[in-house]
Amino acid sequence: MQAPLVSASSQVRRYGHWIDGQPVATATHIQRVGPQSDDVVAEFSNGSDSDAARAIQSARRAFDEGPWPKLSGTERANVLNRWADLVLLNLDHLVQIEIAEAGKTIRVAKGDLEGTVALMRYAAALCHQLSGEAFTDFGSALQAMVIHEPVGVVAAIVPWNFPTIIFAQKVPFALAAGCTVVVKPSELTSGTAYELARLATQAGLPNGALNVVMGYGDPVGQHLVQSQDVDMVSFTGSTATGRRVLKGQEVNFKRVSLELGGKSAAIVFDDCDIEAAVEGVLFSIFMHSGQLCCAGSRLLVQNGIAPRFLEALIERAEQLKIGLLEDPSTDFGPVVSEVQLQSLKRFVARAKAQGATILSGGDTADSRSESATYVGASRTFLPTILDNVECSMEVFDEEAFGPILSVTRFATEDEAVRLANMSKYGLAGSVWTTNMRRAFDIAGKVRTGTMEINTSLEGQPQLPFGGFRTSGIGREKGKAGLEEFTEIKTVAFRLEARPPFFGAK
Ligand code: NAD
Repeated sequence: MQAPLVSASSQVRRYGHWIDGQPVATATHIQRVGPQSDDVVAEFSNGSDSDAARAIQSARRAFDEGPWPKLSGTERANVLNRWADLVLLNLDHLVQIEIAEAGKTIRVAKGDLEGTVALMRYAAALCHQLSGEAFTDFGSALQAMVIHEPVGVVAAIVPWNFPTIIFAQKVPFALAAGCTVVVKPSELTSGTAYELARLATQAGLPNGALNVVMGYGDPVGQHLVQSQDVDMVSFTGSTATGRRVLKGQEVNFKRVSLELGGKSAAIVFDDCDIEAAVEGVLFSIFMHSGQLCCAGSRLLVQNGIAPRFLEALIERAEQLKIGLLEDPSTDFGPVVSEVQLQSLKRFVARAKAQGATILSGGDTADSRSESATYVGASRTFLPTILDNVECSMEVFDEEAFGPILSVTRFATEDEAVRLANMSKYGLAGSVWTTNMRRAFDIAGKVRTGTMEINTSLEGQPQLPFGGFRTSGIGREKGKAGLEEFTEIKTVAFRLEARPPFFGAK
């Protein structure tokens, strides 16, 4: 039987926490005003320290006493696969939540949910791959094994931009490793985390193995970070909050993985396939209105092709269709909140004051007559292209987290690499050229966790994702994304007694 939401009677979904396999109602709620209009689209539990503590205790019990860590890989895989099946069955409902809370276009929301299912199935397959090493060359008397054990109780802290994908890059992998989990979704987009946890219970996940506690970073996130009963924090969010998470470990020293911000460079050479490069650059910065950590938000373009490339890019950016999020032909939607919108406006104003030139966009969509009647137009920041960006300007290396592309020109390969590496971040990037020797050379020289050649935003579950420098610590997805949730243990065993080390008794 499906457990009901705390309230589903009206259009406004009201959510409790999900703890120990059931909904837990709370007295106070956070009202979520949707990205598209002034309407409240959901109410999320306003969690307290004691709610966070209750969720942690549930996960602790499920790890220390429950069946989950002791199940075989096959048994765990079966649950994860059933979970993926249920997500597919409920896909339309989950897509609607993503549209309402995160302001996604239906195409992006569907892609996210399909990606979520793919991540769950891949994690299920990894359940069979937690192998170790055996050492048998110490002579006949001694052998040893090096094995992976689940790290324990994991606190998974998730941001608002990809509430299901980022959940799925963490939770199924932690569960595959035998961990138990407490998820803290963003206070702006908590609905799908609740639904995914509910479906996991329905799929047969033991109670307490996955809990969702909603609320603000302080107190709920902060409580998870500081609790002695949490063994690992897997955090995705801003670099500033990531620093606070690290600081919280001065006492505890728990395992921390951080997926943080980025300012990734798309490097376009004169000899590129211009049409493919324009589409790739466009996709990497304007998908989900640029609200993605690995957005290609810096365009480095070689002098020879720059005028032609920019002309084509502007033309395509201005063709992107702004409209109802539920319409499959809509390309581009509003930013997540009024706070974010105002921050983008200030960001562009500062860039302009420092000498950048606005080639396209720079304002909200209601400034464009053909979009003015669309209900979310005043909340949609137009695809924006800023030219003449110098390394000394804020826009060159600060993350705007919106649809803002900065353009800097270069002459040589060495200069392109130097500009790409001139960043405190190191998350992703792409290179566009038909010269494969050059492409691989540059992929090796740019200091980022992901470099793509003649493509952008490939997110397959097999490919590890994470950053260098202030973009983070650790990797998600791929086999590395499973090992992230394990501790390595050495087990040495003697087959014959060791000769005494000390003198005779
Ligand atoms: P954020 O740092 O404000 O919040 C992220 C999460 O942390 C939220 O759930 C929030 O409630 C929680 N939080 C806030 N304060 C906390 C605290 N003191 N202790 C514990 N938890 C706390 O980030 P955001 O605005 O939700 O997301 C945007 C940022 O996330 C951008 O900087 C973006 O680059 C980054 N991001 C990174 C990746 C990646 O994989 N590298 C992916 C998506 C987003």
